[in-house]
Formats: sequence, structure tokens, C-alpha cells
Amino acid sequence: MINKERQVLVVFPHPDDEAFGVSGTIATHVNNGTPVTYACLTLGEMGRNLGNPPFTNRENLPKIRRAELKEAARAIGIQDLRMLGYRDKTVEFEDDEKLANHMLEIINEVNPSLIITFYPGYSVHPDHDATGAAVIRAVEKLPPAARPTLHCVAFSNDCIEALGEADIINDVSAVSSKKIAAIKAHRSQTEAMMKTMEESFQKQDPQVLARVNFERFWTYKW
Ligand SMILES: [Zn+2]
Repeated sequence: MINKERQVLVVFPHPDDEAFGVSGTIATHVNNGTPVTYACLTLGEMGRNLGNPPFTNRENLPKIRRAELKEAARAIGIQDLRMLGYRDKTVEFEDDEKLANHMLEIINEVNPSLIITFYPGYSVHPDHDATGAAVIRAVEKLPPAARPTLHCVAFSNDCIEALGEADIINDVSAVSSKKIAAIKAHRSQTEAMMKTMEESFQKQDPQVLARVNFERFWTYKW
């Protein structure tokens, strides 16, 4: 059961960060009539995957990833997609205060009741950790009573040991086809993996079913 929200704001650094972990949750909110804004910091232009044989070159990768991101957003019903223009793999080097203030500007404008981002320290990639940290710093600037709920995605090996079990587990099986469409939309990054993943999904492989049908979050505690 996913709580009805007034407005959701999703903040991640890379196109495709939304696809595996939260696209089912987003699609469910959209189905509930809740507007969803997705702020994506970079275009993932440093992505290592140029295909084998290569489907593109470094110069064209941002164009491709931008189109893929738009397609993924369409697949799950996001109306308000914002590409913030930061450089891939450099989010951690942005000025902390500036980045937090940019996040706060978006939060103040969008006025979300729920924000979804990465859990800093437990999200494996430095861009992920830096993005989550900036969002938390931004929300911290709001008076406690005005703070939206913060649901964080974590997937480092030690996340359960450190944070305990996720307190929010969303069953998104009703929108699994939309989620798979979102993952497939990022074909420059996911095509090879999706062939095996989709087969396993059709065969009801329990691990893959769990990965597609359930999304977990840790509510950030102030
Ligand atoms: Zn990422």
C-alpha cells in the first residue's frame, strides 16, 4: 500500500538511477493522480557503456542518454522532467552549499510532500552519495514542521547492517510492465542485461521477480 502523496520530487544524478529502484513507485504515484517531478543532475555522459560493437561515441552519448531519459520518464508517466546540467562523475566536487541551495530552490518551487533520493554513504557511487547529501542538507534548512518526508534508496553491501531493514517496501507488481519499459528505455546502458533479465522475469525467477516487483526505502530520520 503506497501512501497517497500531494506531490513527489525525485532527485538522482544519472539517467537510469530511477529505473531499477523507484520507477514502479513513481508509476504508482502517477496512477494515484500525484504529480511527480524528476530532477536528474547529469546526463551520465561519462557512462562507460558505448556498446560492443560501439553504438555511439563519447560526443554523442549525452544526446542519446537525454533521449533515453525522456522515453523512460514517458513510460512511467513523469510530466515534469528536469535535467539540471551538472557533469557526470563530478557531483561530489560541486560546492556543498551551492548544490544544497540549488536543491532547496527546487524544493521550494515544487513543494513536495515526499522526496525520493539516495541515502548518502550507502549508495555506492560518489555522485549518488553527493546528491543524497545535498538534498538532505537542503531539507535540513527548512523548519522541522515544514520538511517533506524523505525516502532514501540504499544498496551498498553494508546498508542493512548499518541502517537496519528498509522501513518502506512498496509492492509495485501492478505496474511491472511500466517499470520494465522504463529500464528498457535506457537501452544504451541496459540492453545487454535486459535480455537475460526479461527472460528470467517471464520464467518467474524469484530473485528477478523480487527485484522488479518490490522497491525498498529508508525513511530519513532527523
Ligand atoms: Zn547512478
